[in-house]
Amino acid sequence: MAGRMPLVVILGATGAGKSKLALELAHHFKGEVISADAMQMYRGLDIVTNKVTPEEIAMAPHHMIGFLDPLSKCTVVDFRNQALPIVEDLLRRNVMPVICGGTNYYIESLLWKVLIDQGLDGSNESEIPILKEANNRPEDIPSLSSPSSKRPNHEKLSLPLGDLEPGDIFETSTMGARSKDLDDPDTSDEVLHEKLRDIDPDRAGQLHKTNRRKVLRSIQVFHQTGRRHSELLREQIQDGGNHLGGPLRFPNFLILWVQCDQEILDDRCDRRVDKMIQRGMIKELEDFHKEYNLKRQEPADYTLGIFQSIGFKEFHNYLMLKTKAEKESDLGQKYFQDGVEQLKMVTRKYARKQIKWMRNRFLDPRRQIPDVYAVDSSDPSQWNEQCLEPALELVQAHLENRTPLLKPLEKVQRDVLKAELEQKILDCPICQVQTLGQSQMEVHLRSKGHRAKLRRLNSPRLLVFKISKINKDLQASSEMALLQKMKAFTGHGFSELKTQLSDPEGIFRVRIKECDALRTLDELKDLGLELEMKSISSK
Ligand SMILES: [Zn+2]
Repeated sequence: MAGRMPLVVILGATGAGKSKLALELAHHFKGEVISADAMQMYRGLDIVTNKVTPEEIAMAPHHMIGFLDPLSKCTVVDFRNQALPIVEDLLRRNVMPVICGGTNYYIESLLWKVLIDQGLDGSNESEIPILKEANNRPEDIPSLSSPSSKRPNHEKLSLPLGDLEPGDIFETSTMGARSKDLDDPDTSDEVLHEKLRDIDPDRAGQLHKTNRRKVLRSIQVFHQTGRRHSELLREQIQDGGNHLGGPLRFPNFLILWVQCDQEILDDRCDRRVDKMIQRGMIKELEDFHKEYNLKRQEPADYTLGIFQSIGFKEFHNYLMLKTKAEKESDLGQKYFQDGVEQLKMVTRKYARKQIKWMRNRFLDPRRQIPDVYAVDSSDPSQWNEQCLEPALELVQAHLENRTPLLKPLEKVQRDVLKAELEQKILDCPICQVQTLGQSQMEVHLRSKGHRAKLRRLNSPRLLVFKISKINKDLQASSEMALLQKMKAFTGHGFSELKTQLSDPEGIFRVRIKECDALRTLDELKDLGLELEMKSISSK
């Protein structure tokens, strides 16, 4: 059956069971597993990165696991350069390569020819994380990263590597340095668009100036490759790909997606964390921390090498405690519990993000992409019936060149979804502004007015509050509660407050964030006091 040997790709969110399926398929067909997991490439932290066990390796050979120095840098290009020859060699020997892993763009680098290295294939331009925009923290948006001196600290960097997008790789690659200073938030959209017009008028003509992210990326492409983005995209399309990516690398693919009911997956993510802790994750982190983390420069940087692993930064506070007594203290235990909760939350989030990614990237009808087949791992007692057997049959059918029993997943008509979203009325709760459709809302969220409001909400200012209504018949206990709340709010003493509150024109000046003030006003209202807010200074 030479020539029919497919490249088998197993997709799935963290906890869905993709490693198990990959292992069982490789075992059955005498294939070999290629891990496409950014963190598993590093040595160490076997529990945290969930590496295969020796027993599992005995079932099928594994590649791309545990060979990198934990502190070394690795980009998707490095991964592809190492993994591709392995895949090609296996196919040449008619051995089935089974690609499996959580870092989706690593998988992509093996499936599609990307014409621009460093992952700058223009393929991931569409996603602007609205939530992050709304937080007004541009430094959180990957690939619009601020200069390294302002690099977000570990508290802000709550996303694991798998969340980064292809374009982000070059942030950490040596070539990215020159364009890092491009995204100065003070540089207006107009100026950036003008800059792009100078170097790549075609591309500038395709992009609206408010599409800052795309404009920036195209400028970066030019800085990095010395060539125009518009040209590179044209070549890519001529070569059989489209604007979403290059042409496929291999003729023979089987893509399997291990799906799982969301609630069950959430629960599984939680239990996975508990299990990691049982297996000795903390000890592993502590040892590793001793060996590497303490030798690093302060402040600890969780953006390099294996330190990007989920699990490390979440336990930073706990790991920084020096003695056993400190760790066993109330504070130590609180840090520990915080770490566990954080880790669970991040793991769930990561799983959701992976699902979104797979849907967007592998079910896009505009992309040159083979069929994707789904199996369901929601019920572990049905693993054989729901997952393994359909997968085995699918591969077998492919090898025998017949139609498999499984039907491929429908491609998602993203254009249709998008069009629907464009018809909806959306509102910005901060500005009480409504827009027709998502694109208009995105424009609004980037607008100066919105950003200024957001900044104002989030920075302490001197605000003036005037009594507009007060309940005179408060019971003693309620009055006490009100006074205490006001004391916390204004910093004034009880007697002073009593005087102020008995004045119907009473005025309070408080330095506070507007968002906190609004919350307090609500609480005060429940306690019988209504205050009207007037701002005076922005300093
Ligand atoms: Zn707004």
